[in-house]
Amino acid sequence: AKSMGHNMYFVYENRMAENINAHLTLGGGLRKAIDEEEFELYYQPKIRLSDETTVGAEALIRWFHPELGMISPDNFIPLAEESGLILPLGEWVIRRACRQLQEWRELGYPPICVSVNLSGRQFMQTNLVDMVKQVLDETGVDPKYLELELTESMLMADGQQTIVKLHNFRKLGLTLSIDDFGTGYSSLAYLKKFPIQALKIDRSFIKDLGVNCDDNAIVKASIVMAHSLNLKVVAEGVEKRSQVDILKEYKCDEIQGYYFAKPMSSQDFLGYMDSHTMF
Ligand code: C2E
Ligand code: CA
Ligand code: CA
Ligand code: CA
Repeated sequence: AKSMGHNMYFVYENRMAENINAHLTLGGGLRKAIDEEEFELYYQPKIRLSDETTVGAEALIRWFHPELGMISPDNFIPLAEESGLILPLGEWVIRRACRQLQEWRELGYPPICVSVNLSGRQFMQTNLVDMVKQVLDETGVDPKYLELELTESMLMADGQQTIVKLHNFRKLGLTLSIDDFGTGYSSLAYLKKFPIQALKIDRSFIKDLGVNCDDNAIVKASIVMAHSLNLKVVAEGVEKRSQVDILKEYKCDEIQGYYFAKPMSSQDFLGYMDSHTMF
């Protein structure tokens, strides 16, 4: 009986180990990855449709794991949220993006706006606004060049606190945008209660533009309504010229997508700017 118990124990332990293995490997590695700077920010250009020049970029995090190679944020941001590591990681992202802005400025590039993504838990953080202000002070970045991308669900989660926080960001001089617009449950009219400046239409509505009439109608109506509320509209996930042409016809302001450029390292982004900005 004794040895049996032993075996059972090992079977149980092995199963447990299997189940949580992937979790532990990534989750445990995450802490170390923050200390050892295994992360990098990639930048994807945002192009203004009226003249097709690059006016901004979205910062997107990449994890270069020593054994597993590049890991996409969809695979580790949820882990970082669960463990709370999103707080130091999120702070690193904002600091890195601001330092990058200063670096580009010092190299003489024309100013562009860089947006960073916030996660739900990070947005709930009570000292978030102070942290961002401190990073701006420390790096000397003009706040008008820093944009925060928030999702509808983040704004819905925190009630009155949300509005206060957004107004505090606005007082600092930051730009605020709604990411993945159309995938949440809120209406544009409701969103207008929040002091936001831009909407990013989710890729799922752009994918079949020109093919699916419903998507055409949704995108067109969203743009008209956003403009009547004085919001700028950015279309995400634009991969084809035909989509660009339709979005131009609908008076979409900016687009982001593989058609123009994929997210790239800061090094590659410099080369990109050399050929795509008014320099
Ligand atoms: P997102 O904020 O919606 O970012 C857009 C995603 O679409 C990026 O994926 C980008 O590479 C991808 N994309 C851009 N253009 C195209 C296109 O034309 N076609 C297709 N198929 N995809 C396109 P990525 O970089 O893998 O990021 C995935 C998500 O991870 C982001 O979605 C965002 O929610 C999250 N994320 C990325 N970086 C950060 C970060 O620094 N902090 C936080 N909290 N979340 C981040
Ligand atoms: Ca985003
Ligand atoms: Ca998005
Ligand atoms: Ca998304």
